Amino acid sequence: MAAGVPVASHPGCLYMGCPPSGATVPQRKRSMALALYDTMARAKRPFVPRDPERVTMYVCGPTVYNFAHVGNFRPVVVFDVLFRLLRHVYGEDAVLYAANVTDVDDKINARAAEEGAPIEAVTDRYLAAYNEDAAQLGALAPTFQPRATRTMDAIIAMIGQLVRNNAAYAAEGHVLFDTQAYADYGQLSGRPLDEMIAGARVEVAPYKQNPADFVLWKPSKPGEPVWESPWGPGRPGWHIECSAMIEQTLGLPIDIHGGGVDLVFPHHENERAQGVCATHEPTYAHYWLHNGFLNFGEEKMSKSVGNVALAHDLLRRYPGEAIRWALLVGHYRAPLEWNGELIEQARRSLDRLYGALRRAADVAPESEQPSAGFLAALDDDLNTAAAMAELFALAAKLENGSAEEKRRAKGELLGSAGLMGFLAADPEQWFQGGADEGLKGRIEALVAARDLARREKDWPEADRLRAELTALGVEVMDGPAGATWRLKAPA
Ligand SMILES: [Zn+2]
Repeated sequence: MAAGVPVASHPGCLYMGCPPSGATVPQRKRSMALALYDTMARAKRPFVPRDPERVTMYVCGPTVYNFAHVGNFRPVVVFDVLFRLLRHVYGEDAVLYAANVTDVDDKINARAAEEGAPIEAVTDRYLAAYNEDAAQLGALAPTFQPRATRTMDAIIAMIGQLVRNNAAYAAEGHVLFDTQAYADYGQLSGRPLDEMIAGARVEVAPYKQNPADFVLWKPSKPGEPVWESPWGPGRPGWHIECSAMIEQTLGLPIDIHGGGVDLVFPHHENERAQGVCATHEPTYAHYWLHNGFLNFGEEKMSKSVGNVALAHDLLRRYPGEAIRWALLVGHYRAPLEWNGELIEQARRSLDRLYGALRRAADVAPESEQPSAGFLAALDDDLNTAAAMAELFALAAKLENGSAEEKRRAKGELLGSAGLMGFLAADPEQWFQGGADEGLKGRIEALVAARDLARREKDWPEADRLRAELTALGVEVMDGPAGATWRLKAPA
């Protein structure tokens, strides 16, 4: 074992596992090629966790007041791939992943008032729907899913620590973070601070010492949820939630902090400032990862723009794996143009892979391990497009290789696709998803009759049977091993 690394002192740290100042923690090494683009460094860096036996990742989650649009699920799916990759490298129990839920918010209050329902009824309902959609998209449940309303003690404790550390001040029932207290403020977002502030339309208020200072605690308006605090009854600001939830679930600092690129400023900048000033840890997160937007045409996809595609609705029309594939075809950092053709293409890609598996039903796979080429692609800052190309290359080997190559390719295809959250369905069921038993029997009889007509070169009869199948919404695909079929997606 290598020599220990000294731990920086962080007085007043709330983290139970915090080592005393001056202590050393053992440094373990594991060879690993994973490199991640770090927003803070503005460069790809080799990923080295602080402790390979306790790798920590936090991703900012949704505000639960409505069904989530598909854009909300891009970070869910992207960071799920990273979670799965980290679990593969470090072991399933060695990776701790927290993804929070914001359940204190003006939009939630408005929704509850509109429905005349308690706030918790609204948040519980949409959190359940969100988790159901995420599971259908193949996302593993995070290790922790903290909720702001259930983290209130830790939030209030962290605000108190910031006040004691002279990094926050109380004014007119509010507590504000003093951005002057943190010399590195603005380093994460990197652009000139006044520009960022102008872009984010920072609220100017008489109780602020500096326009960039942000709210940690504020009085509740009538009808809003309210908690007691040393600064009067009120509710937390948004940014402090995440820092307190990280401290409570994972402990600061963490290895990886993720979220959408729109969160870099002010949310993540503010999280970092308050986290460092509360714990006196020099680093808040060792790697900052941000995914690009999902675009609908030229516009950013957001509820406020109104161009909404709810994942909940899409999942009724398409298999979860097809939507997941569509969300992963482009590099996670680049914007992704979202449209119906993207999902259709994704489904056709999965058809090719499932088709290869179905035709190789009698091939016994070797051990189901991801291929070296597949891992190399994901190790390169989650290059999912290259990883998908590797899946097709493995499928081609499975179709065209020698008997030995086929066994190996099948194992590697299942291992690689499985790591990425694909090919979880039975190939037969994939193509027949949605057909009830009676309809399925009728379709299969028609497909068999058409196959027979083709073998007998009775083309008029084969065409007639195809027309009958088309009328039933069935698409027939002719291949070397006979015809396969599937139901078309409803229009
Ligand atoms: Zn956050």
